[in-house]
Amino acid sequence: MSGAKISLDKTKSTTKKTKTMYKKGEGVPDFVLLNQITENDFLENLITRHKSDQIYTYIGDVVISSNPFKKMNIYNESDIKNYNGRYKYEMPPHIYALANDAYRAMRQNQEKQCVIISGESGAGKTEASKKIMQFLTFVSKNQSDRGDKIAKMLLESNPLLEAFGNAKTLRNDNSSRFGKYMEMQFDYVGTPSGGKITNYLLEKSRVVGRAQGERNFHIFYQMLKGLNQAKLTELGLNASATSFNYLKNSTCIDVATIDDVADFKAVVKAMETLGLKDEDQNSIWRILASILHIGNITFKELPDQTVGTSSVGVVDQKSLASAAACLKTDVGTLSRSLTYRSINTGVGKRCSVISVPLDNEQAVFSRDALAKALYERLFQWLVGKINQQINNPEKGLVIGILDIYGFEVFEKNSFEQLNINYCNEKLQQLFIELTLKSEQAEYKNEGIEWKDIDYFNNKPICDLIEKRPIGLISLLDEACLIAKSTDQTYLQNIQNNFDKHEYFQSYQSTRDRSIGDGCFRLKHYAGDVTYNVGGFLEKNKDTLFGDLITSMQMSKDPLICSLFPSPKPEDSKKRPETAGSQFRTAINSLISTLLACSPHYVRCIKSNDNKQAGVIDEERVRHQVRYLGLLENVRVRRAGFANRQTYQRFSQRYKMLTKETWPTFKGNPRQATEAILKAHNIPKEEFRMGKTKVFIRSPTTLFYFEEKREAE
Ligand code: ATP
Ligand code: MG
Repeated sequence: MSGAKISLDKTKSTTKKTKTMYKKGEGVPDFVLLNQITENDFLENLITRHKSDQIYTYIGDVVISSNPFKKMNIYNESDIKNYNGRYKYEMPPHIYALANDAYRAMRQNQEKQCVIISGESGAGKTEASKKIMQFLTFVSKNQSDRGDKIAKMLLESNPLLEAFGNAKTLRNDNSSRFGKYMEMQFDYVGTPSGGKITNYLLEKSRVVGRAQGERNFHIFYQMLKGLNQAKLTELGLNASATSFNYLKNSTCIDVATIDDVADFKAVVKAMETLGLKDEDQNSIWRILASILHIGNITFKELPDQTVGTSSVGVVDQKSLASAAACLKTDVGTLSRSLTYRSINTGVGKRCSVISVPLDNEQAVFSRDALAKALYERLFQWLVGKINQQINNPEKGLVIGILDIYGFEVFEKNSFEQLNINYCNEKLQQLFIELTLKSEQAEYKNEGIEWKDIDYFNNKPICDLIEKRPIGLISLLDEACLIAKSTDQTYLQNIQNNFDKHEYFQSYQSTRDRSIGDGCFRLKHYAGDVTYNVGGFLEKNKDTLFGDLITSMQMSKDPLICSLFPSPKPEDSKKRPETAGSQFRTAINSLISTLLACSPHYVRCIKSNDNKQAGVIDEERVRHQVRYLGLLENVRVRRAGFANRQTYQRFSQRYKMLTKETWPTFKGNPRQATEAILKAHNIPKEEFRMGKTKVFIRSPTTLFYFEEKREAE
């Protein structure tokens, strides 16, 4: 999709340097400046600004972004130049101002920074992350040839990873189906020196199936439209997308907003920039083609069954042969690994391996497991390959950008949604802690007296999910170890443990029919979600039968072989880590990484569900404002003082308002600030003098000065 590319528009910008920050009828640029903090006032300001094409508004240092669903003329080269090196208050709110602040803070304080972007699917997280990267690479690269090259590689990693990790969903034509933390590395003067990508939980089930009207990952469609005829013939792909079960089963092939051919070209270019040789590219196309062929393999019951057993054979020999050819593996072994499973019996010398035929359901399961494993491992390899090219092991400065799936509630919610929503709980907890912590730290640093404020704490629900040994993930792991366990026994077990928990509900405890059979409900900060436990154990175990692994290891393609390594002898006795605990470890390590950085926040709001420009759906927005805790954010920010500015800035901006400071003043900025406040009879209660900053209690005082300034 065209959104995948980041190119700068060289046309003239419409972002002018504003003389004043506040224009009547356009709302306030910072929610902290609202006269009253009610939900309605908040919404009115957001809506007014959205309607006048001002998609960014601050809450102090946090950027609120409302998705315009149209091309905005505010991301040109001239805009970047306008924001570069400026202070926030000098310009209208913009994501560039946040990027600029992060870049400045990194260099000035020689500290790691991170930008945490949150919001639901289609709210604009990925677009925001790309705008930040675009700004940072532009303002930092021109200092050296190497910086230029690195900047290019960082930018090119976007179209490549989006092709493999994004898909059209009902909510977003370019939905990210994986979480991503991109660290941009800089040397001590701020020139790009490298980058590192960490990816989280790819939605691999999309490879084999998805909701009607959605698509598989973009790359499949791009490849079918973009590869030349000779290559398509070689891969056995000389057919339309509708001939492949894995593509046709959701009845969506073409998307009006997506140009697969153009995007394919961008992907190939990105592969070249990122050092993926022809050989690698060929392996990638073969793996993707093999997945499509595997999806066309069906099974039939074999005649001549002994009583009580059933075995199946592959119906479509042509698809099987094509898959094996693409994978450069032996067709007989592949066929057998899809229809039989080897089981070790006995122990010690008596140990022997028997081969058990699979029934149709098991064969379909193992076929899909192979397709998913191939895709997931290819994706992981790709991220590793990009990191090999860009990662700079030397210590330096970092700005990390987190673009991770937002809170999800579907009609049917499963293991994937539980993981995603757990991750959002953790990030929300971090947001509350950091925004509050930094606010309180600032008052303390500046020597201003401060009373701690209560806030909604979602730690109990994080604990409910992640705590060991009794939490939803740990109990699931335990169930996966016990042969007799089923999804139902797991449900029973968590009900027994948590039925009295404040954030957990089941039919058993509530008699609420809306919690269906086989379901439990969690009361997340963003709303209630009912999870269906069907498939939980299987998804958590994430098993790929050994026979399939062996058949992949026989591949003559070194890349494919390397995707399926044999377990190391020292690991062979350990239980493989489950998907749930792997995710828990990854998320906790992410949180530690973020905690080691100075955070910057972007909170994205989806303006409407129809991807329509110029429309802002009040109720949808109200819901997001509520669960993102934005009102609390404003209240915390205002609880003490609505505004704080360095003495330097305050005195510079308002010095012309009193004859004591204008045209000349002999004292320091702190004394000038005092003189200005005194000359205007600002009551003592209205402000505090900190060590480096003046703190102003009510927005009205600031308005007063701004209006005076405008009248000058
Ligand atoms: P997901 O969680 O599904 O990945 P997301 O929050 O990353 O969603 P994006 O892909 O960034 O959402 O945005 C969805 C669409 O909204 C974009 O493809 C684009 O059409 C539009 N959009 C988002 N931000 C902007 C913007 N700043 N200007 C113009 N259009 C935008
Ligand atoms: Mg996204």
